[in-house]
Amino acid sequence: MPGESRGDVPAAVPLQIALQASGASLTNSHTPAACAECKKPSTIVCGGCWQLGFCARDHQLSGWEKHRPKCRPWRIGCSSELGRFMVATRDIAAGELLLEDQPLLLGPKMITEPVCLGCYRPVNGDYQCQSCGFPLCGPQCEDTDDHEAECKAVRDSGIPVKVSVFGEINSMYECITPVRILALRDDAPSVWNKLMTLESNSDMRDGTEVAAITQQTVVDIIHDRLRLEQFDTEIIEKVLGIIDTNGFEIRLPDSSILGVYATASMLEHDCVTNTHRTFDADLNLVVRAAIPIKRGDHLTSCYTDPLTTTATRQEHLRSSKYFICRCKRCVDPTELKTYVSALICADCVKKQAEEESKKKSAAQGKQAGGRASRGKPGGVMSRINQIQSTSKGDQSSSKEGGAESSEEPGPWIVPQDPLSPSSNWKCLSCGYPTTDDYPDRITEVVAEEAEELEASSATVAQCEAFLEKWNHLFHQDHAIFINIKYALLHLYGSEDGYELDDLSPIHLARKEELCRQVLKIADVLVPGISRLRGSVLYELYQALYYKAQALFTVGAATSEQARRIAMDAMTALKECARILSYEPEVQPEGQLGLEAKDEIKKLQQWIKEEGWKF
Ligand SMILES: [Zn+2]
Ligand SMILES: [Zn+2]
Ligand SMILES: [Zn+2]
Ligand SMILES: [Zn+2]
Ligand SMILES: [Zn+2]
Ligand SMILES: [Zn+2]
Repeated sequence: MPGESRGDVPAAVPLQIALQASGASLTNSHTPAACAECKKPSTIVCGGCWQLGFCARDHQLSGWEKHRPKCRPWRIGCSSELGRFMVATRDIAAGELLLEDQPLLLGPKMITEPVCLGCYRPVNGDYQCQSCGFPLCGPQCEDTDDHEAECKAVRDSGIPVKVSVFGEINSMYECITPVRILALRDDAPSVWNKLMTLESNSDMRDGTEVAAITQQTVVDIIHDRLRLEQFDTEIIEKVLGIIDTNGFEIRLPDSSILGVYATASMLEHDCVTNTHRTFDADLNLVVRAAIPIKRGDHLTSCYTDPLTTTATRQEHLRSSKYFICRCKRCVDPTELKTYVSALICADCVKKQAEEESKKKSAAQGKQAGGRASRGKPGGVMSRINQIQSTSKGDQSSSKEGGAESSEEPGPWIVPQDPLSPSSNWKCLSCGYPTTDDYPDRITEVVAEEAEELEASSATVAQCEAFLEKWNHLFHQDHAIFINIKYALLHLYGSEDGYELDDLSPIHLARKEELCRQVLKIADVLVPGISRLRGSVLYELYQALYYKAQALFTVGAATSEQARRIAMDAMTALKECARILSYEPEVQPEGQLGLEAKDEIKKLQQWIKEEGWKF
């Protein structure tokens, strides 16, 4: 790149290169054709964001102080395969701010129970909008800008809305966000134009079941009920596609809504994301680097639940986002060695058990004498025992418990072609193929049972029983297990009878073990700054802190042992506080982050009192 470096001023990039890379031309307004300093034609662009043009390097340097707050470490790229995407223009540190994006539009989710159309809190029907009849939380929400579009449409139709069932999904709400977007065509053409440049995936939506259903309800309501005949079916379908493809779900304190964002929509999907998304108090979408990102890497975001199996993620992405993900994780049958889709091969386990009992009887009477083969420590069966270990009193095994330490693959049955819904499955150890649909069926059955369990506010006993019941069939890090374990690790410490103060050392050890198991998977699948890691680290801190206290007070641990546990607790707590410091305080995770900060002081106090050194 030409141009000398000065302080933190990015290099200069020739204008032509910038235009080519972003798929833009001089007539396209993305890259300013005039120098930001003197308005002469620009010849170079800022090499940070590739968005601001200058006539020459000296004007880039003189304009830097002004541009610095708006500059960003990524540029827009373009390819026929990916469309527009975002590329890092320099190495980016974890936690660095990448983007703050204002919503182009906010609205209720397509599938929602009745919510106030002014402030989105759940409503019970006590108050209706005087103009349109939609339930609101009070007169203060009648005149909000958000509620204007649908309020006017209903008013013009001459027939007020009557919502009589609450707390259940109501299909009338499916049309709200589309109507809000359609109204922009006349009311705010500049926002409308921006929205129309977003990907709608109309071709791929055609023929999908979900699309057919929403399309019918929404098109019918808009044409027949609201009589907005100026919008033809084609444009309504395009709007629905834009919502599906670009809508971000925003969690509010007691409901969740939909926001459409122009720039953030360019974040490419990856099932292991390198960015972290939150929303600030004004519902701007805030995107940060979740992990260190290398120059040239694409910025990515995960548009589906990362703690699910490849089959589940593919199905969700196919039916709601209309694409097939081919990320590193999806094409790898082991899912980056996490085995979150894997079952256990019963043949291998049986064979190994037989071999071991044979060996045992042969070796009886003889000294085993530590000459066991080093390549296969203990064989498959003991590895399963080690890996599947739920040994409740033994904390030492939990640290390395799930790690796939040996190069030799375990008895795990995984899909041969993870991207195909009808893939055959195969055992990685004995190679035995499963050609029928047993893996899919058993996974579906157990997933359903897990869902019911989670929906019924399960207890410690129920979660433990579930794991016990299925752990001979599923890898202990199977996504279904990880989700139950995530619930369970919180229950140890909160359920009646399992409060932190009363947890027995065995239960504390179990809590710690569960935290470490979930973290091990989270470190790979949602690495760096993630709400999941933050919340589990807090629980891990608690388990360790109470363990250290309990052992030390009864004299079961020496001062040195207790000091080490306290140090582990401090490491977990500090990382938790750092990760959750990026969450808004209105969210529970933001609150937890503040608590973590306070707890650091408490822990430091204890360490100081004991006279321990770090
Ligand atoms: Zn200039
Ligand atoms: Zn810049
Ligand atoms: Zn309201
Ligand atoms: Zn109204
Ligand atoms: Zn993927
Ligand atoms: Zn096998």
